[in-house]
Amino acid sequence: MIIGVLKEPEHETRVAVLPEHIAAYQKRNLSIRIEAGAGSAAWASDAAYTAAGATVSSRTDILAAADILLSIHLLTTADLAIVRPGTVLLGVFQPLYHITAMAELAAKGITVFSMDMIPRTTRAQSMDVLSSQANIAGYKAVLLAAGLLPHYFPMFMTAAGSIPPARVLILGAGVAGLQAIATAKRLGAVVEVFDTRPAVKEEVMSLGARFVEVEGAADAAAAGGYAVEQSQDFQQRQQARIAESVAKADIVITTAQIPGKKAPLLVSTAMVESMRAGSVIIDIAAATGGNTPLTQNDATIEHQGVRIVGASNLAGTLPSDASKLYGKNILNFLPLVTTAEGQLNLNFADDIVKGSCITHGGELIHDKTKSLATSQLPVGAAQ
Ligand code: NAD
Repeated sequence: MIIGVLKEPEHETRVAVLPEHIAAYQKRNLSIRIEAGAGSAAWASDAAYTAAGATVSSRTDILAAADILLSIHLLTTADLAIVRPGTVLLGVFQPLYHITAMAELAAKGITVFSMDMIPRTTRAQSMDVLSSQANIAGYKAVLLAAGLLPHYFPMFMTAAGSIPPARVLILGAGVAGLQAIATAKRLGAVVEVFDTRPAVKEEVMSLGARFVEVEGAADAAAAGGYAVEQSQDFQQRQQARIAESVAKADIVITTAQIPGKKAPLLVSTAMVESMRAGSVIIDIAAATGGNTPLTQNDATIEHQGVRIVGASNLAGTLPSDASKLYGKNILNFLPLVTTAEGQLNLNFADDIVKGSCITHGGELIHDKTKSLATSQLPVGAAQ
């Protein structure tokens, strides 16, 4: 079977397969056909792919010939005109935010797997692209903030005077937030953390950070460990408590997201204005609206001396390791949908296959995407 690997759009530096992954594909009787220049932004040359056993080819050829297409981002309409019905498309498509595109892919008979929909279970950990990429985002958020902050991170006692440690506030202690805590602590900052899931308190404390507690958060247990929307009363108490910490922070790193929904607004304009000039906010939730009302996605703005960085793809700023880990996530997933002889084998009894498959056989089959699509269709529209 032919696995086609596409060059990502201009703004993306990552690639789904690196030369070092190709031997593993060959072992499973899968041959790699990769678009010319696909790995260049991740420092992988066409020559390196060829030397590893891949065939470098044109985009049109790959779109027409591949049985499985690997692409991190969604394809263009022009691309889709070439893809054959029955082709499998595998990437990170955020289907809950791209319902119309998913319905179009279904109508074209393309089978779509979205790696961000893989259940967050122990068995799926090695395929969890959200974790592998969020880990990078948390690390880079702190480095980015350290580069912008006009202060040291660690405490210093020098002959010229003493420097207090930087104060970092992290909102959301998921994968990105936990890595941000670890990185900020390594650099010597004093770190405070807030999350609506009390389950993360112990992890936060074991990393040496202080956990800010607000009583009465809605129970996230039924949402597979994800956060859920909170009551009005909780949000008000949470805002008051966060405001105290924001005013004292040199750096705020916000990572709070709710799958399929707009990110919660946690840091108000008034809170931003309470921060000292020179302070920095890195908003990792920028792609889903941001955790501040001032955040602009993929842009840095300055508001009354506070810089707010809307960072939706920090993983892309570490393209070699981000591609290495993403590529391994894909390699770990492929045995669930292909045989050792290199044939397609979709077993929907497997919860990981079922959970990540969005379209198949001309239909939207992913429960959550389907129910969102149904609720968004105008009354009387064909479903
Ligand atoms: P995420 O990116 O969805 O959200 C980031 C964090 O923001 C979460 O910790 C969330 O609780 C928090 N948050 C949401 N709303 C908030 C609010 N109003 N105020 C403060 N914080 C808020 O999170 P994620 O990193 O993708 O992790 C989501 C879940 O998946 C977690 O339970 C995590 O432990 C779990 N997980 C499981 C696996 C696995 O077993 N395969 C791997 C990684 C993560």
